[in-house]
Amino acid sequence: MGDLRRRVYLSPPDVGPAEREALVDAFDSGWIAPLGPHVEQFERSAASRTGRAAGAALSSGTAALHLALRLAGVGSGDRVHVSTLTFVATANAVRYRGAEPVFIDSAVGSWTLDPAALAEQLELDAQRGRLPAAVVAVDLYGQCADYSQIEPLCERYEVPLIEDAAESLGARVGNRPAGSFGHSAILSFNGNKIITTSGGGMLVADDTELVARARWLASQAREPVAHYEHQTVGYNYRLSNLLAGMGVAQLQGLDAKVQARRANYARYRSALEPEGIEFIDEPDGHFNTHWLTAVLVPESFGVSPETIREHLETYDIESRPVWKPLHLQPAFSDAQVVGGSVAEGLFHRGLCLPSGSNLSAEDRERVIAGIFEARDRSRAG
Ligand SMILES: *Cc1c(COP(=O)(O)O)cnc(C)c1O
Repeated sequence: MGDLRRRVYLSPPDVGPAEREALVDAFDSGWIAPLGPHVEQFERSAASRTGRAAGAALSSGTAALHLALRLAGVGSGDRVHVSTLTFVATANAVRYRGAEPVFIDSAVGSWTLDPAALAEQLELDAQRGRLPAAVVAVDLYGQCADYSQIEPLCERYEVPLIEDAAESLGARVGNRPAGSFGHSAILSFNGNKIITTSGGGMLVADDTELVARARWLASQAREPVAHYEHQTVGYNYRLSNLLAGMGVAQLQGLDAKVQARRANYARYRSALEPEGIEFIDEPDGHFNTHWLTAVLVPESFGVSPETIREHLETYDIESRPVWKPLHLQPAFSDAQVVGGSVAEGLFHRGLCLPSGSNLSAEDRERVIAGIFEARDRSRAG
């Protein structure tokens, strides 16, 4: 029997009257498109939140990655070192530049880019005179990568570092916010992210000229003359002013949304860890968004993550496998991989639980009960 209650989604948009009002306010201002004061306000607020000098509001996080790579100098035939355990957008953007991703394994415990594997590969690259054109580190599920090691490594080899902070806006390490690491960072405001403009992204950086160039490339790279003059190929990547209005309102609620996601994680952990389910540790000094609560279901738990997922689905509860490592994706089957077994293990035993900032405590308990029920049935059966 299906439950009559509504479906519990993995990470649905969390919007309310404030966002509706902001959208109508942007509409009433007369600045419908393409740009306007709400875009500027959104860019200033997001740059300030990430400790950066400036930001360029864009149509998606993927567009932001594409521009970040181009502005870091990545071009045809270059290699770019990328975390293998991530959403495909990170590596797609590398291919948009005609470059080749080199996939780097996750570290045990943090699940983020393994600094030791990166160090080994960079040393090998340097010996062969084939350093990559950039490194893209991903703040997986809202935990900043280990920048205390990754930043100095990239500096030593003079390779630009790009932070993929699509899942970590609102996180920090010590007093450094997510989005503040490396040469530039990218944010996503897709519908499933911590804050949303229904679709959107941003490139943030300390170099205001680089950000100005991103805005220009994102507006078809038109030369500043009266007629349409173009010396380079640009893109149509800007965010609409209406959506930026919504983004300003969402950003004002960021801390509360992060707290709600952290509360999901804390509750799941207190209920499931004593029963043998494993969680990503929050290392000392880190403050994670826990965008998604991702867990490991060890064999000793008695039921596979896939069986749990299917069982939750019978209650109309959405859960998902952990990202499939990109070195296992057919689209990237010819790419080089450094290690890979840690990420593969996380994929095979991992599961992402409903983690929305608007997930009710009641629904969260249904998720937990569903997991135990799946286990008990499997043990009995
Ligand atoms: C969502 C996401 C992106 C892409 O952002 P879009 O706005 O959907 O284009 C890139 N990287 C990571 C890690 C993501 O989770």
